[in-house]
Amino acid sequence: MSKSINVALIGNPNTGKTSVFNQLTGLSQKVGNYPGITVEKKEGICKLSRGVKAHILDLPGTYSLNTTSLDESVVVELLLNKKDKDFPDVAVVVSDVENLKRNLLVFTQIKDLKIPSILVINMSDRMEKKGISLNISLLEELLNTKVALISSRKGTGIDGLKQLIADYKTISAEPNLDTTVIAPEYFEKLRKTFPKEDLYKLWIVITQDVNFMPIEKKAVKDTSSFTTKSKAELKRLQQKETILRYQFINKVLKETYLIDRNAAKGWRASIDRILTHRVFGYLIFLFILVTIFQAIYDWSSYPMDFIDAQFAAASEWIKTTLPPGVFTNLLAEGILAGIGGIVIFIPQIAFLFLFIALLEESGYMSRVVFLMDRIMRPFGLSGKSIVPLISGTACAIPAVMATRNIENWKERLITILVTPFITCSARLPVYLIIIALVIPEGRFFGLSYQALTLTLLYLIGFGAAIFSAMILNKILKIRSRSFFVVEMPSYKMPLFKNVFYTVVEKTKSFVYGAGKIILSISIVLWFLGSNGYSSEFNNAEEIVTQKIETIGFDEYNQEQIQRELNSYRSRVMPEASSASDSEMALAMRDSIQIKKLSLENKARNQEIASYKLENSYIGTIGKAIEPMVLPLGYDWKIGIAVLTSFAAREVFVGTLATIYSVGNDEEETETIKERMASEINPKTKKSLFNLASGISLLLFYAFAMQCMSTLAIVKRETNSWRWPIAQLIFMSVFAYIVALIAFQVLK
Ligand code: GDP
Repeated sequence: MSKSINVALIGNPNTGKTSVFNQLTGLSQKVGNYPGITVEKKEGICKLSRGVKAHILDLPGTYSLNTTSLDESVVVELLLNKKDKDFPDVAVVVSDVENLKRNLLVFTQIKDLKIPSILVINMSDRMEKKGISLNISLLEELLNTKVALISSRKGTGIDGLKQLIADYKTISAEPNLDTTVIAPEYFEKLRKTFPKEDLYKLWIVITQDVNFMPIEKKAVKDTSSFTTKSKAELKRLQQKETILRYQFINKVLKETYLIDRNAAKGWRASIDRILTHRVFGYLIFLFILVTIFQAIYDWSSYPMDFIDAQFAAASEWIKTTLPPGVFTNLLAEGILAGIGGIVIFIPQIAFLFLFIALLEESGYMSRVVFLMDRIMRPFGLSGKSIVPLISGTACAIPAVMATRNIENWKERLITILVTPFITCSARLPVYLIIIALVIPEGRFFGLSYQALTLTLLYLIGFGAAIFSAMILNKILKIRSRSFFVVEMPSYKMPLFKNVFYTVVEKTKSFVYGAGKIILSISIVLWFLGSNGYSSEFNNAEEIVTQKIETIGFDEYNQEQIQRELNSYRSRVMPEASSASDSEMALAMRDSIQIKKLSLENKARNQEIASYKLENSYIGTIGKAIEPMVLPLGYDWKIGIAVLTSFAAREVFVGTLATIYSVGNDEEETETIKERMASEINPKTKKSLFNLASGISLLLFYAFAMQCMSTLAIVKRETNSWRWPIAQLIFMSVFAYIVALIAFQVLK
């Protein structure tokens, strides 16, 4: 096997680096994190000619090697560390033809580290419109490098770039500038102290944390021993270096870069004026948000229902085809349910990222960030937090993933931590059933109490998010300063390939990242719910059958059977009475008999399931924690439902259906409701679901972190268990206290 060439893609943000990466690697990409930090690491393989391969590493966007953020320090640390397995044989510096001057700064710095560098000038398709012309061969000569003029949008020039990568050995590693002129004496001293080291490299090491303190400095030696200058002096020298570089760049561009101003058009400025307008800007954004929200909420319901149905069918199929036993149950109810719980989120994630990618790609997102920044900043959030917060109304999972766009770590962390307060769609079934039970149907100024309560719950969620953001902003001591660069890239038609890769990558990262955790918790919950140690659990069938034989069905089920049988009879009887021959009448009677048996069988199974759940490990735990939930106005049954719905909130309704031994089909939610309404609190002897306990339950679900999938994704996105655990504890305790106060005050 031939050795592959290590290529590092470097460049300013928004130069089309990702597009170039996509062009070079196609679907052979792998996305991970740098060890210990949450900076995304993207790599892929590019096939060159003659079976040679290149390993492409897409480094975070950086404006210069003078680090100001975590992302940039990743780049510097790699370029300084020859021993790193990713150390580039060749650096490919991507620049944008419209911003060549600014882009060249980092190019000259990398060049001065004596790393062979190819200069990619991207977006060549815009040259004509903008009236830009370039003298490539002179540029190559002056910069002492190879230049690839490409358009990653049109796919032109990519083969030429691959050829340059394959021939990287012919590329000069000579520096562009002599940095020592900014402080000759100082550099002379450095040279004498460290005769073996490269001077520019040394300089980068010394100034590495002048602007920013990176978390990890493995590759960088302790700088204190050889800094004889104060931070302020070093900063001043850095500025001097930048000026020196721009002098050089200006000189080069003067000879090679020509722009005919008349060719450039002014429509961009006028669109910008509208999109960032104090009134229209917000209105337009609101309109776009509503559309996105609608899409995640509505459109994804079709594929989600479809997925749901498929998994139900698959589970049914397994149960009927495989021999009954623990393994079959584990497969059908534990593993399959777990995988279903992961797959079900894919449509929402895909839709959200489709829209986000479109907004980013088109250049509109930068305007939104600019607009929202003013509003969000006082709460410790970033303009970019608005997208996660709004998406959280559909589901916190894609919302938490969407925080990756927020560069500032503190703002990103706060957004991640508060997003689960936003009312997500999984809370809706819980809210709806409890509201229907405990909130009276009357109206207040034409608005129904029930609708008002629901609105209030949404507002409470949003308020909790904003409020906790403010508090977190005060208490979190995280140094995460970065220069706020509002870059307004020009408007572009989104590139299908980029949008597609974003959607695929986000979906994959959810399925593999959070999937494992969701699956394991599902299996644990399944185990606890379908196993028990007591003889009651193990002999549930006989016990329940015996009970039915001696004292009959549960009162509720008895009524239910009678009612259904009556309605069946009334449908069948008219035909039977009109039937002339007695044979027909006999057949009718038989069919009623069969209906009765099947209804009884169903009721029996429901009662067994209920009895089993009651005596399973979960049931035992539920009863054990009853003293804890009694002050909130719940009994052990609600306790169990709260426990199991830790997997996902919507499980609440299903668990109550099982424990009240009623079916859980769509048309039977009405029966669950009736059943819940007839429940009596053992202590107060009053209705269990009353205004006090109902409100308490609503508030509990509004604040509690009842979603393992969110915890799993928070773990993935923050790269540590610390934050999801803190979130779980804080939200649960908070929810408990609020629910407790609500019940005690209202009862
Ligand atoms: P990155 O931030 O450097 O990774 O840049 P992206 O790859 O995300 O691209 C930034 C923007 O430039 C996107 O809107 C792309 O669609 C656009 N873009 C990328 N390559 C080209 C190109 O060759 N021509 C034009 N006109 N636009 C491009």
